Amino acid sequence: MKRALFLDRDGVVNIEINYLYKVEDFKFIEGIFELCKYYQNLGYMIFVVTNQSGIARGYYSEDDFYKLTLWMIEEFKKNTIEVKKIYFCPHHPDISSTCNCRKPKPGMLLEAKEEFDIDLENSILVGDKESDIEAAISAGIKETYLFDEKKIYNKSKATRIVSKLEEIYSVNTK
Ligand SMILES: [Mg+2]
Ligand SMILES: [Zn+2]
Repeated sequence: MKRALFLDRDGVVNIEINYLYKVEDFKFIEGIFELCKYYQNLGYMIFVVTNQSGIARGYYSEDDFYKLTLWMIEEFKKNTIEVKKIYFCPHHPDISSTCNCRKPKPGMLLEAKEEFDIDLENSILVGDKESDIEAAISAGIKETYLFDEKKIYNKSKATRIVSKLEEIYSVNTK
């Protein structure tokens, strides 16, 4: 079994923009490559798990999403980071039917577990919303970080709330 680092996309990998699908609007968050390298060197597999209800809403197509995803994977590669797989939920309960993949449901995490034999209990998730953390907890992930750059949250079920990604890998180095 392998340990994994699960990352939410919008608000963790890139600066959140509503219904983002264009490469030119995609800006990586400071510290994301360092965070990935840190855990990659420790042997963690890296995954992105993202709700993309913009697809159900028709704001962009699945094809638009794939194009951006392929570009993003290449950018990670340029930084010597291998993102194993990107799991996404294209649904929205008001439009498509309810599903098991939309966070806070743990569907995407459980799928990764099955597909790659992941040791969820010893894996890590970084999210920017409480629903990311809830998905992780439902999947049995114990180490979770809520990335709260704007310091909006004063309470979370996450192991820790951090306002910089650097706080995750620099503290763990000590
Ligand atoms: Mg997010
Ligand atoms: Zn879904």
